[in-house]
Amino acid sequence: MRLVKSKNTKPELAIRRLLVRIGQRGYRLHRGEIAGKPDVVWIKRKLAIFINGCFWHGHRCSHGRRKPMSHRDYWNEKIEGNRRRDERNRRVLNLAGWQVLVVWECQLIDEAAVIEKLKQFLFSV
Ligand SMILES: [Zn+2]
Repeated sequence: MRLVKSKNTKPELAIRRLLVRIGQRGYRLHRGEIAGKPDVVWIKRKLAIFINGCFWHGHRCSHGRRKPMSHRDYWNEKIEGNRRRDERNRRVLNLAGWQVLVVWECQLIDEAAVIEKLKQFLFSV
């Protein structure tokens, strides 16, 4: 289990590779001044992508539900806090006119589905 959220993690690199594959460049990475620090943004188009680790962001999938056996309360509280913060950031972005796409780490297994998701997001707004 990865316990440190770092930049340029493998899921992010995977998304960037997929973006290149569908001809999407011109994005920026890790813009600290945008709410929630999205992993990938198109500033002029106001599009933001978050690539969320299932554990840290409390995805309701098998990876997200699996919690360490020890310090359960600690983890539950921490992850619940992350979820609330994600939700708040999303609202802030939406209110400022941004479109937000969340890609979960577990979804990256199915590259074709993620490409479809990215295309819908990038080409329909
Ligand atoms: Zn997941």
